Amino acid sequence: MTDAINRKRLEESMDALGRVGETPKGGLTRLALSDEDRRGRDLLVEWMRGAGLRVTVDRMGNIFGERAGRAALPPVLMGSHADSVPTGGKYDGQLGVLCALEAIRSLNDHGIRTRHPVGMAIFTNEEGARFQPAMIGSGVMAGKIPLEDAYNARDRDGIRLGDELERIGYLGSEPCVPRPLRAYLELHIEQGPILEEEGVPIGVVEGIVAISWSRLTLHGTQDHAGPTPMRIRHDALVAAAEVVRRVREIPAELGGDLVSTVGRLDVTPNIPNAIPGRVTMSIDLRDPDDARLDRALRLLDRAVEAAARTEGVTYELEHYWRVPRTPFAPDVVGAVESAARSLGVRSRRILSGAGHDAQYMAAICPTGMIFVPSRAGRSHCEEEFTPMDDVEHGANALFRAACSLAERAE
Ligand SMILES: [Zn+2]
Repeated sequence: MTDAINRKRLEESMDALGRVGETPKGGLTRLALSDEDRRGRDLLVEWMRGAGLRVTVDRMGNIFGERAGRAALPPVLMGSHADSVPTGGKYDGQLGVLCALEAIRSLNDHGIRTRHPVGMAIFTNEEGARFQPAMIGSGVMAGKIPLEDAYNARDRDGIRLGDELERIGYLGSEPCVPRPLRAYLELHIEQGPILEEEGVPIGVVEGIVAISWSRLTLHGTQDHAGPTPMRIRHDALVAAAEVVRRVREIPAELGGDLVSTVGRLDVTPNIPNAIPGRVTMSIDLRDPDDARLDRALRLLDRAVEAAARTEGVTYELEHYWRVPRTPFAPDVVGAVESAARSLGVRSRRILSGAGHDAQYMAAICPTGMIFVPSRAGRSHCEEEFTPMDDVEHGANALFRAACSLAERAE
């Protein structure tokens, strides 16, 4: 097949949607279910209708558009999310949505008929920046998060997700449940440095790494920073500092591709003249290998126990969230690889270190992803950037992979 997407039109769409919620430095703030999100959604729906799609919205505000196939078969769905983190970039999420739209517009341009319908999806609140958990729209659809729990998620100001869906006009009527799908395909920026470093424009994503989240609370003795001699102190923050250091050492000890992060630290009372009485912290561990992640958790358990004992503090440690490694479907991964080969561009197999809607979709249908390079591996920042040549290759790979999975009818 020689048909291709329209690079100029794709670039224009990226520019136009990128202006909705644009920051002064050229980034994007389009928090889920904000006024900016509503304006972005309205624009996308207008474009989807313009491309002849039948548009529906489900009870989680996930937006779907479908182009009929030759037969009443399960559709091939392409998609991603349109929300961003605060002062994020213009590529994370929206690039996947716009490439999906461009692939469908290109099917129309070239008059391509497919046996399976081809559709696109825009999932609600993927980032988890405003409402937790992340990937809530696809999570409810996959049956992993109860709808009522999602509605009751509250942002920092106490505003309910369900109320915001209604306020911005995207509380749809379609049930948010799994339905038969031929495949789900998501194009996304890599958010890491590998593709750029290797000069490879297309990442054929084989799956998503295993992820574990833990919460540690250390209880010391809150006391005055002046009159309390050092020898009788039980400082929760000193124990926490030791845990932070040990968490950083675990990947070097275990090897492989394990990564570890303490991203959040809450210190009580957090004032200059009191010995910290309590510290709560987060520990994020990720590894392609579930067994190594288990070993990392056992090392963490021991590190916390030792740090608490040394400082004479007590603690609670909860490993409260775990997703096993998510492998993608061989036939979808294969379709992406063949599409890249047919374009004559280099590709390599890769695992995603970040969660995506594709992770939940993989639970309900054959799923795959396409990565395109991120400049300097950066994302969730205003500097996020992917060169247009790479975007074009990625969009063409998505277009061709979707065509082959949907089976060209003529
Ligand atoms: Zn994303």
